[in-house]
Amino acid sequence: MPGIAGSFDRLATTPRMPILFVGHGSPLNAIEDNAYTRSWQRLGAALRRPTAILCVSAHWQTVGVSKVNVLEHPRTIHDFTGFPAELYAQSYPAPGAPNIARATADLAAIQAIEPDLEWGLDHGAWSFLLHMYPEANIPVFQLSLDRSKSLRAHFELAAQLKRLRDKGVLIIGSGNLVHNLGMMTWNAKPFEWALGFDNLIAAALLDRNYETLIEVQTFGPLTHLAHPTLEHFLPVLYTVGVADQKDELTFFNEAIDLGSISMRSFVLS
Ligand code: ZN
Repeated sequence: MPGIAGSFDRLATTPRMPILFVGHGSPLNAIEDNAYTRSWQRLGAALRRPTAILCVSAHWQTVGVSKVNVLEHPRTIHDFTGFPAELYAQSYPAPGAPNIARATADLAAIQAIEPDLEWGLDHGAWSFLLHMYPEANIPVFQLSLDRSKSLRAHFELAAQLKRLRDKGVLIIGSGNLVHNLGMMTWNAKPFEWALGFDNLIAAALLDRNYETLIEVQTFGPLTHLAHPTLEHFLPVLYTVGVADQKDELTFFNEAIDLGSISMRSFVLS
């Protein structure tokens, strides 16, 4: 396979980077000042500065193959409708990381990752990066979610990318641990099933029991309520897929928003 020996090994080795799962919630968080966005700001200031950021967002889905964007200048994608003009006016002009993105594709020896020149940064990436790193001067690239893969295949693909943590890359899964837009209610208390599913996933994370996450569909109706579709859950498999058993877990933004959206996020470092 071309380039494997070269492109990855040429990247400078750094102290091992932490990894993140970010519950991104509403696109409006991009332009709001609230408890979630203030956590993101604090986190950006506290973490060791990455060489580049790899974001696996719920909002880039492909079928049949995983892709990484290898653009020098990824565009800001406004992938939502019906929001205020101020949100559409936002841009996140961070550079891309084509060399690291291509090296990422080379790392995945078992499941292919294809370079992509079409995608940019969707709101699952820029809506919180805009708060974490407002200067937009850290290169960012995304990896797509291949919807034809099983949950285990997503986890196993992530595991192949673990060594990126030793190359200064901050790997971020971005989705929501509970995400049911149809049940969303303004000013609502969290639904019991939302709390139940959120607690179940939190307990599995505390136990480092990642099989529970991979086998989440065995919870049947509860999983279906928490995730009528799985795209906002899948990014967490990329975060735990690159984890080590000795990484320490810290939760933040532990709240259920709008009754049915878990904002629970975590750092493993
Ligand atoms: Zn989303």
